[in-house]
Amino acid sequence: MPLGPQSITDITGTQIDELVSSLGEPLYRSGQIKKWVYQGLVNSFDEMTNLPAPLRRKLMEAAKLRSLELVKQTTSTDGTVKALLKCTDGKTIETALMHYGGEENKERRTVCVSTQAGCGIGCPFCATGQQGLERNLTPGEIIGQVLYFASLLRPRPDGADGKLVPGRISNVVFMGMGEPLANYSNLWQAVETLNAPDCFKLGARNMTISTSGLVPQIKRLAQEKLQVGLAVSLHAADNTLRNKLVPVNRKYPLEQLIPACREYSRLTGRRVSFEYTLFGGINASVSHARSLAALIDGLNAHVNLITANKTGDAVYGPPPKRVVLAFEHELLRSHVNVTMREPRGQDIEAGCGQLRGRYLKEDS
Ligand code: SAH
Ligand code: SF4
Repeated sequence: MPLGPQSITDITGTQIDELVSSLGEPLYRSGQIKKWVYQGLVNSFDEMTNLPAPLRRKLMEAAKLRSLELVKQTTSTDGTVKALLKCTDGKTIETALMHYGGEENKERRTVCVSTQAGCGIGCPFCATGQQGLERNLTPGEIIGQVLYFASLLRPRPDGADGKLVPGRISNVVFMGMGEPLANYSNLWQAVETLNAPDCFKLGARNMTISTSGLVPQIKRLAQEKLQVGLAVSLHAADNTLRNKLVPVNRKYPLEQLIPACREYSRLTGRRVSFEYTLFGGINASVSHARSLAALIDGLNAHVNLITANKTGDAVYGPPPKRVVLAFEHELLRSHVNVTMREPRGQDIEAGCGQLRGRYLKEDS
């Protein structure tokens, strides 16, 4: 069963079992292979030292181990690491690792993953949106971003860990480049493989999918057995403004989106997160805050406020601090659960699609 140019992470755990049995090998070998692959332990099949040499050779002929190659990596002063990775067809994607402090066992290492090269939704403030959609990423390319950081965070036998504190990835957020729910089946295969006990073993509750608001897919997500978190990029509480900021709102306006979120919360028992990026002079006034509170009234929800990361378009900049505080205050007054999120990695252009945008410009 040759996989062509694809990587072994492009197939499910069950398909790895089938591959191993089609190669005439006993099933326990499949478990050994998955362990090597999903612990990010090795860079080639040949390093899988507990496999017999003929099997390693057969695996090399059947599949690639990795499908992503590092182009550039930068570390921000706040510890956020951003990597630009290249797919086998030359497309580049961004992924980031964020550390959140806390007591030792509460420390979080979150990988922010891209699901498409580019994005077709076209939000005017977003660097990725300006690049258009190139293609969907494969499950292996999605998983490969997590494995890239998993192997970087693995304690080295020689103790040389560089600046990174070694440890396990605790969370995955699908908030990198692209609209995850526009690539549903590849996204979902990646989620299931990351979750599978014999693969990456990451709890479904530790994964969050961020969407611009594709209503049919939100409904589908609500029916899935694995309960991953849902974050909806709202950014506006009325259709006129949201049509501009998140153009897919023309297709799925708020009167469809909000009921779909209510249904998601009812069916899964989970709280929905709303991302609200504050753009000075656009969506950040106290009356915008009031409309937001009214829109999500009665919904089991949490609002994450983010201040805009400046991209090429100067119209979409962050508001002054006092405006941000007044917005937050108004939400609190209306009893909305709200968190002000600190932007991460600003000095390394860690905003969605920014590093890649720069790379493409430099490259042309
Ligand atoms: N396409 C999905 C997930 C990727 S974008 C979505 O839109 O939800 C992840 C988040 O980054 C979204 O909430 C998006 O609105 C936000 N974002 C994009 N560009 C930004 C910018 N310049 N400043 C602040 N947030 C931005
Ligand atoms: Fe696409 Fe999300 Fe960027 Fe909008 S914000 S263009 S949906 S990646």
